[in-house]
Amino acid sequence: MTDAPTTHPETLALHAGWRADPATGSVAVPIHQTTSYQFQDTGHAARLFALQELGNIYTRIMNPTVDVLEKRVAALEGGVAALALGSGQAATTFSVMNLCEAGDNVVSSTDLYGGTWNLFANTLKQFGVEVRFVDPTDPENFRRATDARTRCYYAETLPNPKLNVFPIGEVAAIGRELGVPLIMDNTAAPIICQPLKHGAAVVMHSTTKWIGGHGTSIGGIVVDGGNFDWERWGDRFPTLNKPDPSYHGAVWTQAVKPLGPIAYIIRMRTCLLRDIGAPMAPMNAFLTIQGLETLPLRMERHCANATKVAAWLAQHPAVDKVIHPSLQDGEMRRRADAYLKGGHGSLIGFELKAGAEAGRRFIEALKMFYHVANIGDARSLAIHPATTTHSQLSVDEQAASGVTPGYVRLSIGIEHIEDILGDLDQALAAAGAGGAKMAAQ
Ligand code: PLP
Repeated sequence: MTDAPTTHPETLALHAGWRADPATGSVAVPIHQTTSYQFQDTGHAARLFALQELGNIYTRIMNPTVDVLEKRVAALEGGVAALALGSGQAATTFSVMNLCEAGDNVVSSTDLYGGTWNLFANTLKQFGVEVRFVDPTDPENFRRATDARTRCYYAETLPNPKLNVFPIGEVAAIGRELGVPLIMDNTAAPIICQPLKHGAAVVMHSTTKWIGGHGTSIGGIVVDGGNFDWERWGDRFPTLNKPDPSYHGAVWTQAVKPLGPIAYIIRMRTCLLRDIGAPMAPMNAFLTIQGLETLPLRMERHCANATKVAAWLAQHPAVDKVIHPSLQDGEMRRRADAYLKGGHGSLIGFELKAGAEAGRRFIEALKMFYHVANIGDARSLAIHPATTTHSQLSVDEQAASGVTPGYVRLSIGIEHIEDILGDLDQALAAAGAGGAKMAAQ
């Protein structure tokens, strides 16, 4: 079922992009642990290099194992094609740099993963690309920050620590009016949100998280929605509409027309991946495919467990504030209900009444939860962002992204709910946070 005649994620996760190896009958996707591929003859080699024929040349550019992952994630997101990379950070960098030249700018939500914040605030600046941060509470902030050199909007579907769902449709609509594509980091909401359906043009994931799901492999992926008219806004997108000197003057929007609306992702592969590198390794693609196959099932349990944990924490005497979309109201609840289907995600933030020191003791008292700098593992995880993931940000930057000193972040796994609540309960009590053995529900 390489062209899956279904839109059901449970089926796509198992079947899209692959149907048994024609040579061996292998049902599992083989790990093509090779750097290069034998050409049939010199004509074949020349046609591949000239892009007159698509095929494998060298694993920095493409690999058959990675190709299956790309097809499968593209199918799950409702996109036309994808490009897998060595990390989520590489995916973010490529997604933006595929459209930007020095002097251009990106308008981004302030609600971002700390690593993306650093990339945008500091590293892209080195290359002459300015990122303008705007508060997504008011979608019109994106319009206000846009000018003739704005190449894209960037945001996360379900950004931690605030866990305010991004107004995808509202900002995508502003972008379509002005000719600016919206790139969504959908890392924390696979399956439960499909940003392309709401008007986003590009989706990226850190596959390190829920997609891989087992804490084994760093990876990232960019999905081209095939739904943005790059030619209509020709002046805004010179990288796709002007002759490319590195490909004998090819204009990507014209050159790939016979292959479909894939100019953005093809240019990313043939130029950025060729020149900068950062491919996903075949072994990591294999492990990520293993994770992906059970993703729809895992997301159900992740979300169900998290909703129960959020409700339990909210009525715990030691806890001051709990952050989870299931507990929100007003406009944020409306956005959560509009964009998340089948669950509210498995990240939870909370603040202990007894403050930062109790938060630290709580983390150290956990017995089943792992204390790690990761999210989206099948196992439950916990961390204190102010001293770890967000520690390279200034106090003001931390506050802008919603990290207060006593904030604890949980990534709820798929264990039995009684064991999750039991571990939280004993850790709250051990931390002297005022927890008094509450019955696990
Ligand atoms: N996007 C989000 C939302 C993340 O949480 C992370 C990592 O934590 C990344 C991107 C970067 O991904 P990676 O660690 O795979 O480079």
